[in-house]
Amino acid sequence: MGKTHLKGDPMNFSTTRDFALQLDAQDKLASFKEAFVISDPSLVYFDGNSLGMMPKAAQEKARQIVDEQWGKDLIRGWNKGWWDAPSRVGDKIGHLIGAAPGQTLVGDTVSVNLFKLATSALMLQPNKTRIITDAFNFPSDLYILQGMKYTLGNHHEIIRIGSNDNDITPDLAALEAAINENTALVTLSHVVFKSGYMYDMQRITDLAHEKGALVLWDLSHSVGSVPVHLDDCNADFAIGCTYKYLNGGPGAPAFFYVNKNIQEKLTSPIWGWWGQKNPFDFDLDYEPAPGAQRFLVGTQPMISLLTMEAALEPILQAGMDTLREKSILMTDFASFLTESWLVPLGFSLGSSLDSAMRGSHISIRHSEGYRINRALIEEMNLIPDFRAPDNLRLGFAPLYLSFADVWEGFDRIRRVMEEKRYEKYPQQKMPVT
Ligand SMILES: *Cc1c(COP(=O)(O)O)cnc(C)c1O
Repeated sequence: MGKTHLKGDPMNFSTTRDFALQLDAQDKLASFKEAFVISDPSLVYFDGNSLGMMPKAAQEKARQIVDEQWGKDLIRGWNKGWWDAPSRVGDKIGHLIGAAPGQTLVGDTVSVNLFKLATSALMLQPNKTRIITDAFNFPSDLYILQGMKYTLGNHHEIIRIGSNDNDITPDLAALEAAINENTALVTLSHVVFKSGYMYDMQRITDLAHEKGALVLWDLSHSVGSVPVHLDDCNADFAIGCTYKYLNGGPGAPAFFYVNKNIQEKLTSPIWGWWGQKNPFDFDLDYEPAPGAQRFLVGTQPMISLLTMEAALEPILQAGMDTLREKSILMTDFASFLTESWLVPLGFSLGSSLDSAMRGSHISIRHSEGYRINRALIEEMNLIPDFRAPDNLRLGFAPLYLSFADVWEGFDRIRRVMEEKRYEKYPQQKMPVT
């Protein structure tokens, strides 16, 4: 096995384990694996895009919060770093997404933040009725938009752009054609959850702005895996998740970004005391807090939020450009192993071969994807995830995966196929895939 046709890749990849070890020897981020709790060294974890592994710093912090902050400080904790945590931690996340301070805040969930920000975007432009998204978006994002339309009286029109290449790449010509002067909002996942396709944020934001539309990016699969430049792109809004590549822990609160240029024009659809100008005046009438703060609603989950803050340490230390470099090499290597080993066994690659159009996960497709996924989890100690109808999603979190891990994972998939181990599992799906 010699050359690959992967775009822009100067290396000749090889399918040997030695080759993976060579890549590890050159890996500048290799030592970051030690910053994570590895409880089972033989587990190959390809699901860091769904729930990141636990950083040791987060584990220690969680204990400290429970024992010291909650246990001893009690209510005094609010004046010792709890109350201002949404903006302090938001600004740290801002570093990872190209946002100057004062625009990113932590709170609630991605879905709830989408509702708040998208609704405020529509309220700002009462005469425009068009909302544009795509069929690649995370279903919850689409449900939120549908519920928002219903709540606002059903006079908006939601346009969902499709694909013309079997659900790998969105139809960009259709997207461009759909954006018109009647468009209030364009909202997309920057890196889409199934195929890993990555939009050109600058280009789409510019296209929308030319027609006077606002743009909201869901960064759930981008933050911590690809560099994002919200301020440079002049994006209006963004939302994102902290338990995926940010390793914040299950259910860690989400974040949102509101560009400082529009903050003062916006009204939150949910007026809570954390978004009130002087919450401790306990005034009986609402007045919005300055800036993006008005989009906070109520008390935040402090144990989870502060644990997530500690989880950011290794990523902030590694830096997004170095992470991206490794992530590209990893997904290139994974695509190469897919083509070399798995395509002959009936798989097809469900992601772009061009790293400029790809985040840090890839999809490999097989009509037996669901049963293959189960065999991998139950017999091979490999964790990918399955996304209907036929996607096995493989996430490559560059902070704690080695190239030998990638090689090992593909070897296990190959063995499940060659030994037809998946055939004994039922087609019936379990509740969480
Ligand atoms: C993971 C993810 C979410 C999660 O939403 P929650 O409301 O926080 O559960 C939303 N959107 C996208 C694109 C995601 O990948």
